[in-house]
Amino acid sequence: MNQQILIDFPNHISVYIKREDLIHPFISGNKFRKLKYNLLEAKKENATTLVTFGGAYSNHIAAVAFAGKEQHFKTIGVIRGEELATKIQENPTLKFAQECGMQFEFITREAYRSKDDEKLMTDLRTKWGAFYLIPEGGTNALAISGCEEILTPEDANFDYVCCAVGTGGTISGIINSVLPHQKVLGFPALKGDFLQDEISTFVQNSHWSLIQDYHFGGYGKVTTELIAFINHFYQKNAIPLDPIYTGKMMYGILDLIEKNYFPENSTILVIHTGGLQGVAGMNIKLKNKNLPLIQIHD
Ligand SMILES: *Cc1c(COP(=O)(O)O)cnc(C)c1O
Repeated sequence: MNQQILIDFPNHISVYIKREDLIHPFISGNKFRKLKYNLLEAKKENATTLVTFGGAYSNHIAAVAFAGKEQHFKTIGVIRGEELATKIQENPTLKFAQECGMQFEFITREAYRSKDDEKLMTDLRTKWGAFYLIPEGGTNALAISGCEEILTPEDANFDYVCCAVGTGGTISGIINSVLPHQKVLGFPALKGDFLQDEISTFVQNSHWSLIQDYHFGGYGKVTTELIAFINHFYQKNAIPLDPIYTGKMMYGILDLIEKNYFPENSTILVIHTGGLQGVAGMNIKLKNKNLPLIQIHD
């Protein structure tokens, strides 16, 4: 569903938001798309266990845990940070995943960095038996095929499609499915020049660019200005945004509109990729620092 944002924008610009956050009650919009063909493949290979990777507040971990419960896979989450092993109950994401039946392997940040080494895979196979591996953030060729289904024929008239970027899988699917007159703008939620190359390996056209100015200090970092923006946007439009991805992107889009980045009469489609399960975890962190909280109700 595309919902118009009823703000009076300059230059006759109109902005619509594709509510992918509403396609599933628990699985964050784009994570649902990314898992679709991976789950079919896992079944085809007769896998009974899914193994994947993520950080403490990962939307992807929550999505895999829930999908596993729904579709009767055993799920193993390899989680960055050994210290979290004793803090599952205090972490809304891990608690949710555990309630869905996910079992965890907590590993050090150092081990996590070399998670693609054969040694870790061998150890995991010894402990858990054969499994279907879903990479961190869920990005692989099958995930990109799933994200090619986000845009539909009703989206053909937009000039721009905007999407938040983590590993680059979601935007790659979108890029592969835009029409020649459309341009895709990606808003990375993290610092890093590697995304440009990474996305280039997945896509078949050059109708896209990355806007690197709105990561707010890096992955998972927020400022009081960003939180205030998310709260204000919610009050005005009744659309909840998450602090890791969609809040940063929307802040960037509105800022670019103010700065006359978009030509007169541009029509912009913003993809709401979901991520709202992460709000509770962020609010615990903000509360511990005595900072204002995110006040949205999805
Ligand atoms: C994971 C995620 C993204 C980024 O998706 P990638 O495919 O990793 O680039 C964007 N928005 C939300 C809400 C997410 O959970």
